[in-house]
Amino acid sequence: MRILRLGSAGSDVMEVQSALKKAGYSVGGVDGIFGEQTKKAVTEFQRRFGLEADGVIGGSTWRPLHSFLLGYDVYTVRMGDTVYKIARKYKTDPAAIIAANPTESPENLMVGSRIKVPYDYDVVSTDVNYTYSIMMRNISGLKARYPFLQIGTAGYSVLGKTLFYIKMGAGPHHVFYNAAHHALEWITSTVLMKFTEEYLRARAFGKQLKGQDLSGLWSKTIIYIVPMVNPDGVDLVIDGLSSSNPYYSSLIRWNNGSTDFSHNWEANIRGVDINHNYDAAWEESKEAAEALGITGPGPTRYSGPYPVSEPETKAMVRLTRNSGCSLALAYHSQGEVIYRDFMDMAPPQAKTIGLRLSEISGYALEKASGISSYAGYKDWFTKEFRRPGYTVEVGRGVNPLPISQLAHIYNDNTGMLLYAAQASLK
Ligand SMILES: [Zn+2]
Repeated sequence: MRILRLGSAGSDVMEVQSALKKAGYSVGGVDGIFGEQTKKAVTEFQRRFGLEADGVIGGSTWRPLHSFLLGYDVYTVRMGDTVYKIARKYKTDPAAIIAANPTESPENLMVGSRIKVPYDYDVVSTDVNYTYSIMMRNISGLKARYPFLQIGTAGYSVLGKTLFYIKMGAGPHHVFYNAAHHALEWITSTVLMKFTEEYLRARAFGKQLKGQDLSGLWSKTIIYIVPMVNPDGVDLVIDGLSSSNPYYSSLIRWNNGSTDFSHNWEANIRGVDINHNYDAAWEESKEAAEALGITGPGPTRYSGPYPVSEPETKAMVRLTRNSGCSLALAYHSQGEVIYRDFMDMAPPQAKTIGLRLSEISGYALEKASGISSYAGYKDWFTKEFRRPGYTVEVGRGVNPLPISQLAHIYNDNTGMLLYAAQASLK
């Protein structure tokens, strides 16, 4: 964590602003710019923790602040403490403490034991530019609140970032949702992470989600989620090119000499468009790209040297095979459209399910054609398994869609994410 102070800017500033805001501090806007109002909020935060109130976030301020980013604190039980007393002290829900500490007896806390105390706000930040490190902290925060959440490793990105998958449920029918194959489309990662949080919460507290009771769904299905397939690309788009990037000079060359990747970069960190890298009409994808003058690494549409050449693609192929999914949704932005089928290989129910998904979300249902239907995840899934697979293009506008669209997009997609899991039962 770098030192943040007046004048600092970036996604880390945005994450801090978002957490302080959730914790009740007045930061001004969550805009990624460390201004006077943010400094004032940091100063108040420092006073509360007995730190030097200089408004600068260095090591001693990061320590307490980090637990706010994660959404929970670790508390050492003292003589006379009860769950209810601790909940009052933190102004949080006792049920949340009980859920986060399933091995503790709530009526009889052990003095000296360290328990997790969730703060009274959501973990997943829905007002920030969603980088890999923010997502990772959100996953840790969710795991702390909902210890029954299962997390695994699907593989690694080109730069060695772990591609985590999330696993929710305990049934025989499996579905797979993934997001952010394309770097500019990182808002889709937030959509799936927000869904994960709401699904876990509904499960943990026996609450409904979109008017549905989840206990049946949980015992009949498993939802696999890879929320960010292309983390190297997402970080490049959001945080810019770091001089320590091993592809530094190549990236500038592949980007036509520009160091600005924020409005055009869809590919992974070595210039392969991983949603044109799957083994499904890969040759056609390559030829179509060449007709557009794309013959090597670049911001978009380069299919790679051969099918499944990229570690991110390999990881998705392996996880899809191992998880035995009967349905898949690949999240992209933008257009408010759902693409189905690949070269008429989808089974008949793929159209029926697609129509229902369209009805629930309000998105149009279309049969994919042209370059967009070559060598993508949905294409490979459909070809390989002859099961229903869909590309969902969320939101409207120019990529990257601003995070201010998140609430609207999430509302359109929650019902679809629930229905897709149920459709797999039929
Ligand atoms: Zn896309």
